[in-house]
Amino acid sequence: MKYEIGVIGLGVMGKSLSRNLAQKGALPALYNRHVAGSEEKVAESFIAEHAVLDGAGAFDALKPFVDSLATPRKIILMVNAGAAVDSVLNNLSGLLSPGDIVLDGGNSHYQETQRRAAAWAAKGLHFLGAGISGGEKGALLGPSIMPSGNRKAYDEIAPFLAAIAAKDAQGQACCTYVGEQGSGHFVKMIHNGIEYVEMQLIAECYALLKQAQYSNDEIAAFFEAWCKDVGSYLLEISAKILRVETKGEYLIDQILDRAGNKGTGKWSTETIAQVGEAASLIPAALLARYLSFFKAKREAAQAFYAVAPKAVQVDPDHLKAAYRFSRIVNHHQGFSMIAEVAKKEDWGIDLTEIARIWTQGCIIKSDLMQELVHYLKEGDQLLMHSSIKAHIEQDHTAAKKMAATAIEAQVHAPCLLEAVNFFHGYTSAQSSANLIQAQRDFFGAHTYQRIDDPSGKSYHTHWEEE
Ligand code: NAP
Repeated sequence: MKYEIGVIGLGVMGKSLSRNLAQKGALPALYNRHVAGSEEKVAESFIAEHAVLDGAGAFDALKPFVDSLATPRKIILMVNAGAAVDSVLNNLSGLLSPGDIVLDGGNSHYQETQRRAAAWAAKGLHFLGAGISGGEKGALLGPSIMPSGNRKAYDEIAPFLAAIAAKDAQGQACCTYVGEQGSGHFVKMIHNGIEYVEMQLIAECYALLKQAQYSNDEIAAFFEAWCKDVGSYLLEISAKILRVETKGEYLIDQILDRAGNKGTGKWSTETIAQVGEAASLIPAALLARYLSFFKAKREAAQAFYAVAPKAVQVDPDHLKAAYRFSRIVNHHQGFSMIAEVAKKEDWGIDLTEIARIWTQGCIIKSDLMQELVHYLKEGDQLLMHSSIKAHIEQDHTAAKKMAATAIEAQVHAPCLLEAVNFFHGYTSAQSSANLIQAQRDFFGAHTYQRIDDPSGKSYHTHWEEE
């Protein structure tokens, strides 16, 4: 008997996806590398722990793993992004036959995926890139899957992906063919960027409510109440987190305030800068994590300036409105970024499909995402949609008030503030960039255009006497 599908890499995600596949009737062949003394018989022990995997193939050598698969072989790769992916691919490619398919489901950089796919195509092998969101639980119960690459190869592996994916409200799989090679990992990268901002916004609401002397339980209760309206997974888990106690103490108060990251926020920020998009919230959320990391410097600076955050009054309803406002700006920027890069790369991405597969299974699922499925049919600029306009107009005043409150209270809230700031820039027909152009021309003869000359001609002025 040959296995229809194989999984390489039995870490957090690989294990959950393997169990998910088995639950859907696709018993997989499983491979994890052998490292003497630390990683031995990983697949065998894992199978022994889960009855659903009875009959699955256990391998710690690549050749027998590959030989156990029906052709064209279909392999899901779930190893750490970067060198580990290249290392596995190098060992694997010589063992495969033309037409075989390897799908990288990790968080690889989309340009790396493009490079790898081109190299594999030259050997007659298919290398597909797929973003997979949902974390450990999502991978087990149904993740959101963003696959891309050679369409024929995708069609071969698609039934397995559709079977394990989450299902949307209409029962359709939260898995869609995103587009040409690299597009799936690109979309996942921006998904993670949006996720950074969603997490940061909740953290900023938490900081403001703490500053207003609300207890963890009270803040959890606010978040639970907001959830009824906002329906955000991240808000829901934040409420749960705030209620967890160990040994009579809230666990949240015992956690060191230094946020880690695994690179997708940095890649999103780099890409934003490279393509020249004005998506300012993802960089703000990333830099907030970086600032958090400098705990010792922050402690020293607080003592040096003898600053203490000021007691402040926060109306939770105003804060909820500011949070909703900021989330809309975040989603506007994220989808606008996808649209812009999709145009440049000629990927032909259907944004409504992206929003649809993000309604279930993924970390940024929320009621807003359900609405966006419809709004994105009318254009990629969410802030220009009439229904979004109504939401924004309803919450704008509260968002400004909360931004001012955060400044007054000396609470670091870069995403709440930047959402308001961006909105003001985005809705300003006249910016201050005329002065920037004049300055550039003054010191660098970079020239400028005039508003009374629509030809776009460049002008240069000698701004002062020699
Ligand atoms: P993980 O728990 O650290 O597991 C990594 C797996 O890769 C392990 O099986 C590891 O084998 C294997 N591996 C590492 N280096 C290798 C090498 N040089 N050769 C062969 N195998 C190697 O990671 P994970 O959380 O499952 O994540 C896997 C991928 O999914 C990553 O790209 C991650 O960013 C992405 N992802 C993770 C999540 C999440 O919530 N965890 C969500 C979405 C996407 P050993 O056990 O032998 O070291």
